[in-house]
Amino acid sequence: MYRISLITGDGIGPEISESVLDVLNAINDRFGLGLEIRSLEAGDKALKKTGKALPQEVIDVITRSDACLKAPVGESAADVIVYLRRLLNLYANIRPAKSWPNMPALKENIDLVIVRENTEDLYAGMEFDIGSTAVALRTISESASKRIARYAFMAASQRKGKVTCVHKANVMRKTDGLFARSCAAVAEEFKGISFDQMYVDACAMNLIRQPESFDVIVTTNLFGDILSDEAAQVVGGLGMAPAANIGEDFALFEPVHGAAFDIAGKRAANPSSFILSAKMMFEWLAARKKDPKAAEVARKLEKAVYDVVASGTKTKDIGGNKTTMEFTQEVISRLT
Ligand code: ATP
Repeated sequence: MYRISLITGDGIGPEISESVLDVLNAINDRFGLGLEIRSLEAGDKALKKTGKALPQEVIDVITRSDACLKAPVGESAADVIVYLRRLLNLYANIRPAKSWPNMPALKENIDLVIVRENTEDLYAGMEFDIGSTAVALRTISESASKRIARYAFMAASQRKGKVTCVHKANVMRKTDGLFARSCAAVAEEFKGISFDQMYVDACAMNLIRQPESFDVIVTTNLFGDILSDEAAQVVGGLGMAPAANIGEDFALFEPVHGAAFDIAGKRAANPSSFILSAKMMFEWLAARKKDPKAAEVARKLEKAVYDVVASGTKTKDIGGNKTTMEFTQEVISRLT
């Protein structure tokens, strides 16, 4: 039995949450995983109703669950996801970018993963004013840098065996200098894994020019956020891009994209990003609880999405005309 907390979010969040809920119910019926799902409200709507974007009762349900699925939230994102990442010490943000069949992708044969440090950098939110000047503090520590580097090397050891450390140490000599040195030191512990370094601007270019050359990219918080949107677009768009926020004791899974208010309520949202986030959750549960059934569900869920897009059934963002729910029903019908 697994207790899953589900934050339904804002914008297209409730629509893609409905999809994921249908998929999880089908998984319960067909695979008997015993998922107990609690839907929760956090974000702009919760802020309006209760005065808090992330009410304490919601935090309590999340911390009592085995894992959390989180749909995107709107303007109050920093008060929800940034807060949860720090509260639960979800230090590793994992963002895979993989080629899918039948996509309006820029390139094919891509299979890379961005491992983004999730607790430090400018996103720690240490900003203040000095008179008419606004200042942001960028903190990078050796311990957090080595911790994320180890995660990246472990991931590479189960993949193509290559880590690229992305930074801008020629300009930010102190902060990125420390990040780069920490990654290089960890590389010494993993002799079998190949290691190189790249400036972030060169990486942004190479993600377009030769994305198939990457395996694992390890980088700091802000750079990772930007590069993962770019990588998602290279393989077909944000609608296909899942993410995981992993800590020592807990993990939270969410699409890479935001609330996409421009398409909210139009039944046009691609739920794949969230369904594939659920797939990452089952992989994590499988490894953590040593549960082969959860591993099987993860494989079948990915295959179902693959088969649906391969058959040409697609939402508008990836060149089709199916609604969110039509696409979801196709995925469920292939989940056997
Ligand atoms: P944030 O800063 O919160 O990440 P953003 O301003 O980058 O948000 P997103 O909401 O991430 O914007 O999405 C950018 C655009 O991509 C949206 O306006 C929408 O058109 C498209 N998009 C994002 N997610 C999806 C999806 N699941 N299905 C279809 N289109 C999507």
